Amino acid sequence: MNSAIDQRLALRNFERVKISHEPPEKRIHSFTVEPLMEYTDHEGIAEASRCIGCNICTQSCPASLDIGGYIRSTAVGDPAETIRIVFENLPFPAIIGRVCTHNCEDICVYNDTGGPIAIRHLKRYAADKFDDYGKILDMPKRKFIGKKVAVIGGGPAGLTTAYYLAIQGVAVTLFEARPELGGFMKQGIPRYRLPQEVLDKEIGFITNLGVEVHTNTQVGKDVKFEDLMADYDAVFMGIGNHKARMTGTPGSDAKNIMHATEFLGRVAYGEKINVGNTVVVIGGGFTANDSSRVSMRLGAKKVYILYRRREVDRPGYPSSNAEEEMEESIEENVQYMWEVTPFEYVSENGKVAGVKYWENEMVMEGRGRAKPVPKKEKVLYIPADMVIEATGQESDFSFLGEDYLRQLRLTPQGHVIVNQNGMTTIKGLFSGGDSTNINRDLITAVRDADIAAVGILNYLNVMDQIADDKWLPLVDRWKKYSPSAAIKS
Ligand SMILES: Cc1cc2nc3c(=O)[nH]c(=O)nc-3n(C[C@H](O)[C@H](O)[C@H](O)COP(=O)(O)OP(=O)(O)OC[C@H]3O[C@@H](n4cnc5c(N)ncnc54)[C@H](O)[C@@H]3O)c2cc1C
Ligand code: SF4
Repeated sequence: MNSAIDQRLALRNFERVKISHEPPEKRIHSFTVEPLMEYTDHEGIAEASRCIGCNICTQSCPASLDIGGYIRSTAVGDPAETIRIVFENLPFPAIIGRVCTHNCEDICVYNDTGGPIAIRHLKRYAADKFDDYGKILDMPKRKFIGKKVAVIGGGPAGLTTAYYLAIQGVAVTLFEARPELGGFMKQGIPRYRLPQEVLDKEIGFITNLGVEVHTNTQVGKDVKFEDLMADYDAVFMGIGNHKARMTGTPGSDAKNIMHATEFLGRVAYGEKINVGNTVVVIGGGFTANDSSRVSMRLGAKKVYILYRRREVDRPGYPSSNAEEEMEESIEENVQYMWEVTPFEYVSENGKVAGVKYWENEMVMEGRGRAKPVPKKEKVLYIPADMVIEATGQESDFSFLGEDYLRQLRLTPQGHVIVNQNGMTTIKGLFSGGDSTNINRDLITAVRDADIAAVGILNYLNVMDQIADDKWLPLVDRWKKYSPSAAIKS
């Protein structure tokens, strides 16, 4: 043993405490059975005790949570402290504890030694112990500081911004086009992965801070964007990417062909869509996976996911998150078909009946990704009662109106360009989340919102009036220790 860390490692049990799964036959017909079962106290403490607190994982967390800190408090049986630490940057521990992409686990030092610490699952374990975070967080008393901010979009980016501004006494008004808050946490991620009561608990905690919420209110239609810019001291835009990108495959006008976000959104709001026996999902990412498993829960007997590239090329891969998602889908009988190109939807009596497709050859071109080239000489066919296209979305900025639209700069990929404070090229307009970052996941939306909340307080010039700087999100907590930051400084 040549270091203190080596000695501590020797004292620990290296094996990850197993996370139990509900059996597929129990979960496949249910929207309420979560695939992963909660750790018991014994398991949670044992798993947390494996952590050496090196915080290497924090470097890969977009919201730079103090992971070593909150795992340590879990290990000593103090989940309330865990929640207090998580809330320094993130107001959704139970949500993120279920559906985070958990890149942190991929770089945990235990990866090759018994398996990474179950960081995500431990967050859920701690968060599920509390029905009301208000009882364990020592929130400052809210005093209006004379500033008003409008937030457009009630997804994780909008809600996080609202949270960190409201606790500092800013009057926040949130506008959401849909009937309920949550964004894709509500309309995309299905309830068996993210239960409604978890959404209610964590979103309710934020809105109960006094945020004024207008649901069913689309900015650009029910409220004018220019009025928000005139009536509020700053505006935050967390609008996500909700404009469906359909493939336009010939035959797309048949009934029972729809985009995944429409499909998942309708199911999330309680519709029991008749999917028939066989469903074909086009795509290869999160959304394709969720669509396939939701189809199973709606009664499909067979679900195929068709993806044009190889398994290793699928979005989000390589990561333990992508592995786990696929493993759970396969356990639920979803069948993946790699390297195929659907080229026609066949219909009978106006309703889709099947999909014609080609197999692809993957061709390397230079140093880029292998390109799928269809082998057109052989036409293949799968019967289908429903086709779901999980082929991506883009952001819709049309609500800004022509004048503002001209001033808003986007990247060539269509993301909003923001400065280091989260402000767009329009003065007083801040932005974050899926419309702005390339990761397009929850934890990065939260990180953008953390930056924007601090950016807005600075822009409003109210840093000297804030109730308690302990409640400012700790943006880039570890940056100064990171090797890349060190090189730049
Ligand atoms: C099916 C699916 C599964 C996913 N699974 C995961 C996962 O497991 N883990 C993970 O980390 N990420 C996952 N994601 C991605 C994640 O949900 C998003 O990255 C995240 O929700 C983005 O947050 P946001 O606040 O930017 O946008 P959103 O969550 O999309 O919220 C934007 C909100 O703005 C509203 N809005 C838009 N325009 C207007 C307007 N003009 N006026 C008023 N309101 C407006 C929308 O209605 C929406 O409610 C998934 C996404 C999908 C679609
Ligand atoms: S890298 Fe692993 S061991 Fe180190 S703090 Fe993070 S979870 Fe703990």
